[in-house]
Amino acid sequence: MNKIHRLCLVLGDQLSFDLASLQDLDAERDTVLLVEVMEEASHVPHHPQKIALIFSAMRHFAKALQQRGVRVQYVTLDDPQNTGSVPGELQRWDALLRPDELHLTECGDWRLEQSINDCGLALQWHADTRFLCSRAEFSAWAEGKKQLRMEFFYREMRRRGGLLLNGDGSPVGGAWNFDADNRKALPKGVKAPYPARFSADSITQEVIALVRERFASHYGSLDTFDYPVTHADAQELWEYFLNFGLAGFGDYQDAMASDEPFLFHARISAALNIGLLDVRQLCSDVESAYWSGSIALNAAEGFIRQLIGWREYVRGVYWLKMPDYADGNAFGNSRPLPEFYWTGKTQMNCMRQAIGQSLEHAYAHHIQRLMVTGNFALLAGIAPSQICEWYLAIYMDAFDWVELPNTLGMVMHADGGYLGSKPYCASGQYIKRMSDYCRGCAYKVTESTTDNACPFNALYWHFLMRHSDLLRRNQRMGMIYKNLDRMPESKQQALWQRGQILLAKLDAAESL
Ligand SMILES: Cc1cc2nc3c(=O)[nH]c(=O)nc-3n(C[C@H](O)[C@H](O)[C@H](O)COP(=O)(O)OP(=O)(O)OC[C@H]3O[C@@H](n4cnc5c(N)ncnc54)[C@H](O)[C@@H]3O)c2cc1C
Ligand code: SF4
Repeated sequence: MNKIHRLCLVLGDQLSFDLASLQDLDAERDTVLLVEVMEEASHVPHHPQKIALIFSAMRHFAKALQQRGVRVQYVTLDDPQNTGSVPGELQRWDALLRPDELHLTECGDWRLEQSINDCGLALQWHADTRFLCSRAEFSAWAEGKKQLRMEFFYREMRRRGGLLLNGDGSPVGGAWNFDADNRKALPKGVKAPYPARFSADSITQEVIALVRERFASHYGSLDTFDYPVTHADAQELWEYFLNFGLAGFGDYQDAMASDEPFLFHARISAALNIGLLDVRQLCSDVESAYWSGSIALNAAEGFIRQLIGWREYVRGVYWLKMPDYADGNAFGNSRPLPEFYWTGKTQMNCMRQAIGQSLEHAYAHHIQRLMVTGNFALLAGIAPSQICEWYLAIYMDAFDWVELPNTLGMVMHADGGYLGSKPYCASGQYIKRMSDYCRGCAYKVTESTTDNACPFNALYWHFLMRHSDLLRRNQRMGMIYKNLDRMPESKQQALWQRGQILLAKLDAAESL
C-alpha cells in the first residue's frame, strides 16, 4: 500500500460529495475515514430511527465513494478494534496509517469539535461549505448588535442569493415576508399527500438489526423506518414534495391535524442536515416552481425563508454563542421533564398526538415542536437542559447546532431574548384555532380554572404572572399584560391556583 498522504474524516452528518475536504482526492494516496462510534450514538438516548438513518446513510455513502474510485476505511460499531469515540478513532487511524495530513470539516456540535481539537493531532479544518453563511460571515453580521433579528439576516441572505427579487433588487410581491399568509387552519376535507416512503434494502436491514440489538433501551419505534438513506432517494423525497406538497405548504404551514403527522411539510430536514440534499439546489427548485407559476408566492417565500433565514440564522447564533449559550436559563427553570414526554401517556390530546408521532416517526413538524411540546415546556417551567436533551434525542433531524438554538432560544426564551424577540407562549386557544386536537381531548379548551379545564390555559396565565417582572419590560408583550391587568382579581387568583395545582401534579410526577 502506498504511503497515505491525506486522511479525510467524514462524520455521519457530513455525507456530501461536495465537502471541501473531499475535493481533489488522489485515488492512490488519499483515504477517507468513516467511523460508527458509541459515544455519538448514545451521549443522549437518540431515537433508534435516527441512529439507523445515520449508520445506513454512512454505509451507503462509503460504498458510493468506493464506486467513484476513492479509498475508504470504514469502521462499524461492532468492530472489535473500535475505540468508541471520534477522537479515539482519529488517533488510532493516525497511528496505523501515519498520513502526512489529517483533514476534516467543521462539526455540527461544539462538544465534538472541542474533543477532536483536544486529541493532540495536527488537524486541517475545512469550513462547512454546505451552509450559505460561514461562521465568520455571521459573526461579522452580528458584530455590534445588542439583539439579533432573523428578519434582517434573512433579507441579507435573500439579496445575497438573488432569490425572489425583482430586477431592481426589491422583493417580489412588494414585501420580504408573507408569514401572515402562512397561518390557515386545515379546512375539513383537505387531505395532505403522505410523503414518499422508502423500503429498507439489505444494508439498511442489517443496520436496523444492529440498532435493535444495541439500542433497545432508547425510546421510539424502529418498525416504521421509511426514510431515504441515499442521495438518489432523498432527491425523490424532495421531488415528491415539490410536486405534491409545496403548494399546500404556503397556506397550511402552521396547521395541525389529528393523525396527520406530516401535513404539507417536506420531511427533508434529516436528509438535508446529514448532507443528502443541498440547500442551494432546494432554493433554486422552489424559486423555479414559483416563476413557472406552479406555486403561489406565500409557499415559495415561506419555504425559502425557513431554509436561508431560520436555518442559517440558528446555526450562526449557535457558533457565535457557544459554549455559554447552552447554559442559558433566563427564567431560572428547574422542573424535571415529565415522564410523558418519553411515553406519550397524557390526557392532553395535542401533546399525545405530537409526542406519539415523534416516538413513531422521529418527526414532528415545526408548529407541533414550537406551540405544543415546546409551549408546554415553557409554560410549565421545565429545566432548559432537560427539554433540550429531549429534542436532541427524539428527532431524526436533531443536531446540536440546530436543535439547541431552536429549543433553548426560540422555545424556552432561555437566552433572554437574544435569538427571538419574545417568548412564543400561548394558551389552548391557539391550539384550538390551528388544529382539531381539542375536539378529541379529555380537557375542555373553553375552560381555564375547573378540574378538567385545558392545562395550557391556566399555565399560560401562571407563566405570565410568575415572570411578570422580566416580561413586562418587553414592548411586544404589552398587549398581553394589558389583558391580564384588566382581569378581575378573583379571576387572576383562580388562574394562579389552578396553575399551582397543575405544577404540583408535575412535581409529584403525575401525568396530566
Ligand atoms: C423546539 C424546536 C426544535 C427544533 N429542532 C430542530 C432540529 O433539531 N433539526 C432541524 O433540522 N430542525 C429543527 N427545528 C426546526 C423545524 O421544526 C424542522 O426543521 C422541521 O420541522 C423539519 O421538518 P420538514 O423537513 O418537514 O420541514 P418543513 O416544514 O417542510 O420546512 C422546510 C425546511 O426548513 C428548515 N427549517 C424550518 N424551520 C427551521 C428552523 N426553525 N430551524 C432550522 N431549520 C428550519 C428545515 O431544514 C426544513 O426541512 C426545530 C424547531 C423547534 C421549534
Ligand atoms: S384542550 Fe388543551 S390540552 Fe386538550 S387538545 Fe386542546 S389545547 Fe391540548
